[in-house]
Amino acid sequence: MDRIVYLDNNATTAVAPEVFEEMQPYFSELYGNPSSLHSFGGNIAHKIEEARARLAALLGADEDEIIFTGCGTESDATAIHSALTTFPDKRHIVTSVVEHPAVLGLCEHLEGAGYQVTYLSIDEQGRLDLGELAEAVTDDTAIVSIMHANNESGVVFPLDDIAQIVKERGCLLHTDAVQSVGKLPLDMTDTPVDFLSLSGHKLHGPKGVGALFVRRGTAYAPLLLGGHQEDNRRAGTENVASIVGLGKAAQLAAQNMEQEQTRVRAMRDRLQEELLARCPDTIVNGADSPRLPNTLNISFGYIEGESITLMLDELGICVSTGSACSSGSLEVSHVIQRMKVPEMFAHGSIRISLSRYNTEQEIDYVIEQLPPIVARLRQMSPYGRE
Ligand code: PLP
Repeated sequence: MDRIVYLDNNATTAVAPEVFEEMQPYFSELYGNPSSLHSFGGNIAHKIEEARARLAALLGADEDEIIFTGCGTESDATAIHSALTTFPDKRHIVTSVVEHPAVLGLCEHLEGAGYQVTYLSIDEQGRLDLGELAEAVTDDTAIVSIMHANNESGVVFPLDDIAQIVKERGCLLHTDAVQSVGKLPLDMTDTPVDFLSLSGHKLHGPKGVGALFVRRGTAYAPLLLGGHQEDNRRAGTENVASIVGLGKAAQLAAQNMEQEQTRVRAMRDRLQEELLARCPDTIVNGADSPRLPNTLNISFGYIEGESITLMLDELGICVSTGSACSSGSLEVSHVIQRMKVPEMFAHGSIRISLSRYNTEQEIDYVIEQLPPIVARLRQMSPYGRE
């Protein structure tokens, strides 16, 4: 292959050409501040409203329920902060052990500040126990924050069932839908979440822009205070170009999601089947659970995911491994750990995540290149596989 085969789309995605085109004028001739009284700036405000309408349409939301933010992390923090601020007497949060660090890091910080956090467990297929959720929510719970789809395993949590349980208990529900928006259909009229986070760069929009859906009527307290932007709900001069880009990305996702995701799923399934057939001692994590159509988290026994990733990188194939290097040793990702993937497989986990821009030829190339890499690494493996 004479070009990069990019299969790390859960990390970030390519900006769609249509998105880039629509953003460009806002870096050059249309640089005004949308809050200005003069028409040069003020005229730009309508482009922000167009983006808001496009995003609202993708989510089945109303325009006034969308707040633009700086990223998915900020959206997550805003939702949780808002609940704790508007219900100051409630000191308990419910979340899951496999959330993104954007939520887990904040929850750990809040524990240090005296809040109590319940971390719901998952089973070996990456699934939540809804009975555990029902028991966890108490009168003291300010908010339940549970992701829609996991960034590493791709496992999709049953958002409607979660919402039913949480709303029956009269509690606020936030979902981090950063990985599912644009990949799975979402309709806020049917799914009674109070807050939903998303991020531009996961759906072929730009980096550094996100949004938070806040259901109309939900008590809300902003995280960033100061200016009157976003109807006093998020201070700071708008990142106009990126908001325009996110709006365009949302429009493209709404138009093409079903068709694109069917094609992406077929490519992912073919890749999965071929790798399982060609590589013995290999397991697919979360295979029996509902998964994002683009995600394959696969563990090759007796070898290390980092070595696979680096050897693929030499061939121009980009994938990722959940492991993080801590104090010189490789630690298996918290998601793989929580799924209790056996030790000999856990270290050999890689995440392959596709997008609408991948082709069948690229998948053929990976099917051709990856199994010999696995075989070669196993020959060198210190674990002495027979
Ligand atoms: N939540 C999930 C599930 C994610 O996958 C990510 C990004 O990887 C984030 C939150 C953070 O989004 P951002 O990079 O826009 O801050």
